Amino acid sequence: MLTGRRYRLDFTSEQAGFAEQVGGACRSVWNTALEQRRTYRRRGAFINYHEQARQLVEAKNEPEFAWLAEVPGHCLQQTLIDLDQACARHGTWKVRWKSRVRNAPSFRFPEGGKIAVERLNRRWARAKLPKLGWVRFRITRPLSGTVKNATVSRDGGHWYISFLIDDAICPPERHAAPGTGVGIDRGVVNVVTRSDGAFHHQVFARDREVEHAKKLQRDLARTTKGSQRRKRAAARIAGLARKIRRRRQDFAAKTAHTLATSFELVVFEALAIKNMTAGVEPRPDLAQPGAFLPNGAAGKSGLNRSILDKGWHRIELASRSKARYTGTYVITVNPAYTSQRCNVCKAVDRKSRESQAVFRCTSCGHAEHADVNAAKNILTAGRAEHARPRPGVRVGARKPRNRVGRKANRQATAAQPTAQTEPELAEIPRL
Ligand SMILES: [Zn+2]
Repeated sequence: MLTGRRYRLDFTSEQAGFAEQVGGACRSVWNTALEQRRTYRRRGAFINYHEQARQLVEAKNEPEFAWLAEVPGHCLQQTLIDLDQACARHGTWKVRWKSRVRNAPSFRFPEGGKIAVERLNRRWARAKLPKLGWVRFRITRPLSGTVKNATVSRDGGHWYISFLIDDAICPPERHAAPGTGVGIDRGVVNVVTRSDGAFHHQVFARDREVEHAKKLQRDLARTTKGSQRRKRAAARIAGLARKIRRRRQDFAAKTAHTLATSFELVVFEALAIKNMTAGVEPRPDLAQPGAFLPNGAAGKSGLNRSILDKGWHRIELASRSKARYTGTYVITVNPAYTSQRCNVCKAVDRKSRESQAVFRCTSCGHAEHADVNAAKNILTAGRAEHARPRPGVRVGARKPRNRVGRKANRQATAAQPTAQTEPELAEIPRL
């Protein structure tokens, strides 16, 4: 199966400088190619990956674009493929520019077969990347598979290499605990509540850290744009957010491992992505014209989102990924009424939810932890859904999303575009 391995790189200062340069070139190519696509769309026309790749090759032969020829060509091509897929998936107008400040540099070497990886000793290994040469990385877990591609990216002050590998493990015929199932209620007070009454919880951002983040945010607001102080202040915020993000990732991975190894069926309630991403309606204060009541917007804005986020989606993603190895089915069900329905007599009543934590059925008197009751309802709905006859699709498996992406990938690995004679540089917006 395809899976990932990420290691921290130990770049020399020249390598770090060059990697920054490659990342910058890829960003330029992304932005230029996106602008080109938008220009075409404005005229009611399209430009595809192949044409853009051809023009890229031409541009590299021009003296003013010599900096493009200095960086690994495959990384630039891969950037065009990624852009093509992003545009096919989200539409040309929704794809975002890559900014030097917001987007950390990242670039991919698509030809894994050509990347040599050697273990140096117990702790260190090295990989040979085009134009970067041998790069050392801290081998914290065995690679154990064939390399399909490698992505180099920076996160804060550190560079990382992520290998996509094929570990040659086949999915098991049946889960080790057949017939077992669990419903999962995701919440704020308890991040994960299971239908069997178990909780998985962790505080990702401690109160002290939330306060500290607010202070850092105030510090940032007092600096001038473009100043060194502002850079340092932004770096401190990013550092704190990164720390919290890592806790969340760690928690999601551990929880997913426990769920997938223990249960054959894992049922989540479908998250309303819209509620998670959309802005909040302002609530005018009727008593005071011109004033507004709290509407929860702060909890959805940038900093708070990165600090207070519970990582609900990540837990589901991690479970799906882990499920491929254990033969677990991961499904989602409609969340309607799961918190108001009694799991014993099935009566739905809003008043049954006595408080945040307590559910007491108004019909039969059944009392239970509110989240556990909801998780049980989720499992019940999931069992019904799972029992329905379906074509033999394992839910955990994922197919490539679209034809364009597959085709472009095939094309990219099959042949290098050859240089053409007539350059059409006028079509390329200035780099
Ligand atoms: Zn009841």
